[in-house]
Amino acid sequence: MKVTLCPSAAAGSPICPLALCRQEMQQETSRYKAGYDFTTGLSCFRCPACGHIGMAAAGRVQLVFRLAHEYVLTNDPYQSAITVVLPAGSIALCQTYGLDAEDLAKQAAEWALLSGNSSDTLTLAPERQEFLDFTDYLGSLALPTLSDPP
Ligand SMILES: [Zn+2]
Repeated sequence: MKVTLCPSAAAGSPICPLALCRQEMQQETSRYKAGYDFTTGLSCFRCPACGHIGMAAAGRVQLVFRLAHEYVLTNDPYQSAITVVLPAGSIALCQTYGLDAEDLAKQAAEWALLSGNSSDTLTLAPERQEFLDFTDYLGSLALPTLSDPP
């Protein structure tokens, strides 16, 4: 069974990554021209409810390569890279979302950008707070009613 998650910045506005907020974010146009940062290829979004500012790739992030449990991804114009460390235990815990490891890594990278995480590596081990925050976010993205794509 495949669960489809809400599209992120690729198709619409991302959802605020802060727990207890989850409002739809709006493109931030005051900070960067047209909300787009040409140095990173990322768009800037701001949450109207809590003021959180995060970044989103113009397209979906892409997997560049995988080495054991490390997934290296880039955003669309290939100007920045993020490494997601995803141990097998974390992947197993995320099976309820119907995502395979690669999709999970992509979601994690997009979540990291949106959260304003500026570090290059995101480690999603089950015991870490980042993992709890990420799975909570995934849960908020899951659509309640889903049918197979046409
Ligand atoms: Zn918010």
